[in-house]
Amino acid sequence: MELIYKSTRNSNETATASMAILKGLADEGGLFVPDSVPAFDVSLDELAGMDYREVAYNVMKLMLTDFTEDELRHCINSAYDDKFDTKEIAPLVKKAGAYYLELFHGSTIAFKDMALSILPYLLTTSAKKNNVHNEIVILTATSGDTGKAALAGFADVPGTKIIVFYPKNGVSPIQEKQMVTQKGDNTFVVGIKGNFDDAQTGVKKMFSDAELNSYLNEKGYQFSSANSINIGRLVPQMVYYVYAYTRLVADGTIKAGDKINVVVPTGNFGNILAAYYAKQMGLPINKFICASNENKVLYDFFSTGNYNRNREFILTSSPSMDILISSNLERLIYRIAGNDAVKNKELMTALSGKGEYTITDDMKKELADFYGNYASEAETAATIKKVYESDSYIMDTHTAVAATVYDKYVSETGDKTPTVIASTASPYKFTRSVMNAIDSEYDKKTDFELVDELNRLSGVKVPQAIEDIRTAPVRHDTVCEKDEMLAEVKKFLGI
Ligand SMILES: *Cc1c(COP(=O)(O)O)cnc(C)c1O
Repeated sequence: MELIYKSTRNSNETATASMAILKGLADEGGLFVPDSVPAFDVSLDELAGMDYREVAYNVMKLMLTDFTEDELRHCINSAYDDKFDTKEIAPLVKKAGAYYLELFHGSTIAFKDMALSILPYLLTTSAKKNNVHNEIVILTATSGDTGKAALAGFADVPGTKIIVFYPKNGVSPIQEKQMVTQKGDNTFVVGIKGNFDDAQTGVKKMFSDAELNSYLNEKGYQFSSANSINIGRLVPQMVYYVYAYTRLVADGTIKAGDKINVVVPTGNFGNILAAYYAKQMGLPINKFICASNENKVLYDFFSTGNYNRNREFILTSSPSMDILISSNLERLIYRIAGNDAVKNKELMTALSGKGEYTITDDMKKELADFYGNYASEAETAATIKKVYESDSYIMDTHTAVAATVYDKYVSETGDKTPTVIASTASPYKFTRSVMNAIDSEYDKKTDFELVDELNRLSGVKVPQAIEDIRTAPVRHDTVCEKDEMLAEVKKFLGI
């Protein structure tokens, strides 16, 4: 049966999976959501015997029902190949009382690779299926990691161009270097004088500008999105939770049907939402532990039912989570409102107007599976140091936010359910913050001295992604005001 996607803001706007992937965002700023999430058609024990690609096929085929088996297997096999530096694709590592699901073994060493290595294939396949002949322009706002992963995924892909906006002073030095050295004639990287929310708001505005979109169409272009608002990014993320669970079944840690908890360091709410959808597919998840940094808008939301972005934007050592408007939360709001587009739209209108909304008590009851908390900068650093000292395991700052929140959860609840922590970036991507957490003396060293020191302490090989940028020349140096984003897009496209 064909799975239909609907807009969270207008239930009359529907799309097949491939159409939803092509469009990225629904009209009127809505997001596409599956009408219902189909149940697994193989058992968890069977999945435990499969490798990453096979698990991916068995999950994704249920969500992308208008793709043929050949099309989907082509996308999966092209994405999850030796671009990943480990055969497992996403290894599960037991350390310090939890299972760290290392999602950073792809070409840009952050978990965004899990979805962005496959999105270009899903998108070009979707274009073919729908007889789209326009060139596809990927428009992306990034808090640091999406940008590089999307650039790497789309560089030199025929029929596409990619434009990335990042907050000029809001990403790590390594993140910036990774982006501005990007090769590929179809790539364009712009720093904006603003924060991530400014970048995301500017991009969303271009998406929903009907006049602009018809002008682009005349010129043979159409926009699509590589942000986690695209279901082509959400669906591949469901896979790794299923994969992690079934590894625990395979090694006898749990029996098929036993519950696990997941801890997700959260920004735009895409990763944790994928886990939520995986549960609806039948994955036995007990708690979704939503970890925030000092931009703790989600913690406050889960505690009070009030979402309020009217607050100071704090630059932290986990920049990919420095977000006050968590886009994918809208998909959860829509769901807990009883798939009610009218109610959802009301709340989202309040968010863009007053900057806040409050959900009803009935909606709040639907959030019983979620636990939210946050980690301060000092707590995050202390966790990195503690786990390095106890287990010789060095984690990145985002993962450390998750590990800190997990500790808080356990001391509050005493819950001993086996727990998977999403480890979302390599420590090499945030070397300075990570090394400073271990010893503040390191701050005197240069970025690449720190890379070599991290290598010495951890015994983990320096990833190719880091070696690549040691000497790579800067190819992108455009910086613009936040109200000049459209002008930059037009300039790059020559229209
Ligand atoms: C993007 C990102 C996050 C946040 O993920 P969301 O899906 O936006 O919630 C966390 N950690 C890292 C390293 C990231 O790149």
